Amino acid sequence: MLISKGLAFIALGSNLEIPVFQVQQAFDELEQLPGTHLIKRSSLYQSAPIGRLDQPDFINAVAQIKTELAPSDLLAALLAIEHKQGRLRESLNAPRTLDLDILLYDTLRYQDGELTIPHPRMTQRAFVLQPLIEIAPDCQIPGYGHIAPLLAACKDQKLLKING
Ligand code: ADP
Ligand code: MG
Repeated sequence: MLISKGLAFIALGSNLEIPVFQVQQAFDELEQLPGTHLIKRSSLYQSAPIGRLDQPDFINAVAQIKTELAPSDLLAALLAIEHKQGRLRESLNAPRTLDLDILLYDTLRYQDGELTIPHPRMTQRAFVLQPLIEIAPDCQIPGYGHIAPLLAACKDQKLLKING
């Protein structure tokens, strides 16, 4: 059977141990998922924590992948990579060695008990939108439209590009 491939964007984030290393390693892990190719990786960005402020800054990035994994299988695979890299699940907004979120999957709009696509908080976060626009300047977010005005509305959120 011919399986059509999905074009997906994944957000990577880390603020414990050696965040740059964990994010670089996560790019490699994405490339190794079954039926999956890493197409693009953004620069790395440093961002201040949101919600819970008493924790280290984050390193963030976005990857574009092409995958044969259906969205729910992709989520399971991402959670397995997080687990492998030592993530402990604590409260919402807690510090983490690695966070992998599905931002977009083709033009899908989807919601069940475990998965929402587009990612529900992506449209308000500069640390997602800035690396995403870097690798997908014409990106349309289903239900929200073009990425550029969304990013402009987040201009107060400080973000530092740490490599090119
Ligand atoms: P967050 O990423 O919002 O800080 P977590 O990483 O702890 O929170 O994720 C909690 C749960 O969010 C996951 O177990 C997953 O079931 C759910 N979730 C819903 N939509 C998505 C998505 N698009 N990408 C990743 N996780 C998602
Ligand atoms: Mg997550």
